[in-house]
Amino acid sequence: MQRFTIAETAKHIGEKVKVSGWADTIRAHGKILFVDLRDRSGILQLVFVPSNKEAYELAQKVRTEWVLELEGQIVKRPENMQNKEMETGLVELSVEKLTVLSESATLPISINTDGKEINEELRMKYRYLDLRRQRMKNNLIMRHRVIKFIRDFLDKEGFIEIETPILTKSTPEGSRDFIVPSRLQNGKFFALPQSPQQYKQLLQVSGIEKYFQIAKCMRDEDSRGDRQFEHTQLDMEMSFVEREDVLELVERMFITFINALYPEKKIQEIPFPRIPYKEAMEKYNSDKPDLRTDKNDPNLLAFCWIIDFPFFEKTEDGKGWTFVHNPFSAQKKEFIPDLMAEKNIGEIVANQYDIVLNGYELASGGIRNHNSQALEKVFEIMGHKKEEIRKQFGHMLDAMSFGAPPHGGIAPGIDRIMMLLQGEPNIREVIAFPKTGDGRDLMMQAPSEVSEKQLKELGIEVSKKPVKKKK
Ligand code: ASP
Repeated sequence: MQRFTIAETAKHIGEKVKVSGWADTIRAHGKILFVDLRDRSGILQLVFVPSNKEAYELAQKVRTEWVLELEGQIVKRPENMQNKEMETGLVELSVEKLTVLSESATLPISINTDGKEINEELRMKYRYLDLRRQRMKNNLIMRHRVIKFIRDFLDKEGFIEIETPILTKSTPEGSRDFIVPSRLQNGKFFALPQSPQQYKQLLQVSGIEKYFQIAKCMRDEDSRGDRQFEHTQLDMEMSFVEREDVLELVERMFITFINALYPEKKIQEIPFPRIPYKEAMEKYNSDKPDLRTDKNDPNLLAFCWIIDFPFFEKTEDGKGWTFVHNPFSAQKKEFIPDLMAEKNIGEIVANQYDIVLNGYELASGGIRNHNSQALEKVFEIMGHKKEEIRKQFGHMLDAMSFGAPPHGGIAPGIDRIMMLLQGEPNIREVIAFPKTGDGRDLMMQAPSEVSEKQLKELGIEVSKKPVKKKK
């Protein structure tokens, strides 16, 4: 017999069906035993009666979270027993055959609540159970739908999705790299990508014109509130575009998928306001202002663009210059002469933009420097020696000298978007297997030691003394 999902059963009144799932709740009512069966699609009431001896006796042994398979007839519930709130609340399964597929020990955490009352470390240790929770399952389903919608949307716009390497070379995104030792070339290291920035730009030199990727970005950040070592970006890059082209496309994409998947949400202002960085700092003292007119309305979405960021800022010691957002961004045209002459460096404005939602930065992007001299100048201003620039970024400079089209892009953070749309308090709630704030995977117990043999092959010796952390 073919298995039906629980959601389908309401349409099969009177028919014999097979269903399977988890025993969610169990209660006896006189001689009748009721079990609520849960599968991914919903909850179905199972009814065991003594006249069906074999199934009835076996059902007495069933405990919550056992995995069951059942055959029986879908019948309409008596009027006074109907639960009108769910479609399957109108029907029940009159069980004829029960098979126990799997037993379950008592769960260490309860899964029938929204889970917010449970210690989060315990939830993370048993994440695979935590994800049985309706709220968490729903977050994953909506995340899937959003990503699928975006993929289809961009596909229709002529974009192609291209995977870029995970084992790569350090790329400056203003954070620390995760590095991976090379076994075949002892003493050398790969870096995990902080973003596919360089690859996506190189793909523009290849003539791809419209690229996107649902990309994992790895950054070895100190534990800072709601950060994860790895996050997912919708990474995009396009050729022959100016800032307005990128903003228009991204804005249209957000509006389209929110209207389709979150019809209850209201977007406060369309087109999204565009606020120059200077004005944002003067008016809101923030480059991610929360523009909602009613901060208590959970369905209100106030997007805005922050544009015209400064390109350089002073390094922490105040002696040199570093980039504010992205060293590969272009300067606005009128600032190129100053850049090339290394004049008024602090005043140079980047063709760089952020999209902000309800006070959170969702994405950064920019029109890039496709002129190798200007790009080289940026690194010089930041104090890199010519040989060093060649060594680190020779491939980018070379690429920009072989007919690079003007290009630009952006990379909205999927975790943040999902957190805001699902009304969750942090990004861990919309990530299947997140790490703790201090970067541990409590379920897998990672990071962990590796064997002496592995270390030897890699030519690595671990200093037993703890390395002192610089503040
Ligand atoms: N690579 C940038 C980031 O990770 C985004 C971009 O400029 O496209 O923030």
